[in-house]
Order: sequence, then C-alpha cells, then structure tokens
Amino acid sequence: MSTVRGIFYDGLTWDRQDVQVRFDRNGGIRIAGDGIDLALKFDDVSVSDRLADIPRYLYLSGGDACELIDNDAVDSWLGQHNAQRGSRLLHRLDTSMWAAMAAIGTIALFLTSFVLWGAPALAERAVDALPMEVDQTIGDESLAVLDNVAFSPSTVAESRQAEIRAAFDEMVSDMETPMGGHLVFRRSEILGANAFALAGNTVILTDELIELAEHDEEIIAVLAHEMGHIQHRHVMKHVARSAIVAVLVAAYIGDVTAITGVAATMPAVLDSMRHSRAFEREADRVARDYLDSVGIAPSRLGDLLARLMAQCPECEEIPHYLSTHPPLDERVEALTGNDG
Ligand SMILES: [Zn+2]
Repeated sequence: MSTVRGIFYDGLTWDRQDVQVRFDRNGGIRIAGDGIDLALKFDDVSVSDRLADIPRYLYLSGGDACELIDNDAVDSWLGQHNAQRGSRLLHRLDTSMWAAMAAIGTIALFLTSFVLWGAPALAERAVDALPMEVDQTIGDESLAVLDNVAFSPSTVAESRQAEIRAAFDEMVSDMETPMGGHLVFRRSEILGANAFALAGNTVILTDELIELAEHDEEIIAVLAHEMGHIQHRHVMKHVARSAIVAVLVAAYIGDVTAITGVAATMPAVLDSMRHSRAFEREADRVARDYLDSVGIAPSRLGDLLARLMAQCPECEEIPHYLSTHPPLDERVEALTGNDG
C-alpha cells in the first residue's frame, strides 16, 4: 500500500483540490480530500504513461482526473499491480488447465469404459462374423513369427511326443470341437514352461512344461485348458479387441499409421497370448468339464500351475502365458479348492 499526493480536477470546473491517493495491494484506489472520498478499482481508471518527470494523470470515468505528484511511487504500484494481473492470468490459465484435465479425464473415462465393456462386445460380434479360415491364417502367421523369435525345435523324444499327441487327439475328439485341434511341440528358452493356443486350432506345448509336469494328467489338464481357448476363439477375440482399441486410440491421437507399423506385430503376437480373466475362467471351465468327464481331478491343472508359480515367483511380470491372468494363486485355489 502506498499513498501519494495528488491534485483532483472534477472535469467541469477549473477547481483544483489537493488529495491523498492511496493505492492498495488488491488494485483498489482511494482518493480522499476535502469533500472528496472516492473508492475506485484499477479497472475503473486509466493511467497516463510516464514521460520523464511530467506528472501522471489518473483518468476517471465521468471526466474527472487526478494529477499524481510522485511518479516513482506510482510506477512501483503499477509494477506490483501488473504482476498481480499476471498472476490473475495464471490463475485463469490454471482454471482452464483444470478444465482441460477434466476433459482429458472424461475422454480417458470414455476410452476406459469402451475398452472394458464396448470393445469386448464389439470384438465378440466381429469374430462371430469372421470365417474360421481367418483364424487359421493368423495362427499360422503367429507360429512363423514365434518360430523365428522364441522357439527352437522340440528335443522331447518322438515316442514321448506321440504319447502326448494321442491323449490330445482323443481329448479333441471327445470335446467335439468344430475346428478340431492341432498340437505342436517346441522348446523355448524365452517362454519357458508354457502352453498356449494360437488363433485357429493350434496348441503349442513347450518341452519345459513337459519336463515340469509330474504326471501326464497334468499335461492333459493344461491342454484341456488350451482347448477351451480354441473353442471360444479367445485369441481372435483378443486380437479383435486390441485392434478395435488401437483404431479408436489412433483415431483419437490422429495417427493411423501407428497401427500398421511392423513394430506393432510382435507385441500383438505376444500380447495375444495373454488373456483377460474372463477368458481364463472360461477356459478353466472347459478344462474342468472335460477332466470331470474323463475322471481326471481338475486339481491336476492347479497342481501344475502351483509348481509353475513356485518356480517363478515374479511370474506376473513375465509373458508366461499360463502365469498371466487371472492371478495364478486365485486360479490354483479355484482348481484345487473343490472339484464340484
Ligand atoms: Zn489360459
């Protein structure tokens, strides 16, 4: 707050009136003198520019004016006030920043709900409309990619492979899966003990998983689970879901080329091996039904999953197909807890 001496002119007469002009920090101006007491705001007045030592004038609405004697004091007050104006502007920007963030939040919420609920429903319908040949083509492509980057030929003895294949083929015919099933053996240092279904009807079983199993029924149980994914075309649904989301996100960010890049392929292939909790439960149900029908305890699957979990405590972080969703311990509990 500062007070300067001033001379007030009423704009109608030549009368001069000595006044005190007080500037406060909030932009208020008080002009007080004999018979004059005006409370004004900065926005109500205009201030003449400083020209050397020529006194400044405050011009009031209605033609009144006030000559200000102390230019330095006025400068310092104006400086302060403009700084405050700046901060008011910042405040306004802040406010619009919040508005922008609220808008982004709304869009994110929309995208999230779409990803969670809209995309799966849409993906389901899209996949229903797709002929099975498409699944098979995508599955074959995926296997070719995985053979390049993640697999080496199986070293499990032919006779052992034949045993497992026989059990698998029997299961596929029992399940009456329209698309049938095709079992593939591979070794994989990257993926370790693993089994997974590709789009189409291919199920991959790694040597490492065969080695981890302590009973053939455990292998059958895992393969039954994979056939659950095949039956329900989970990989295709997952891919369709990701594609729908990618298109939506690309449309939102405005970069459609991003989704066609080669770089997008590999994550998609690996990602398609991870499924939603709902898919895992559905596949577990198929496995459970089959195992029940042939007199194998569904806990066999839980046993193997538990061993996998023990082998790799941090598995949630690794793209081990069997170890992703839902949390292993939850599934193990569901599969070993009761057989009903
Ligand atoms: Zn699964």
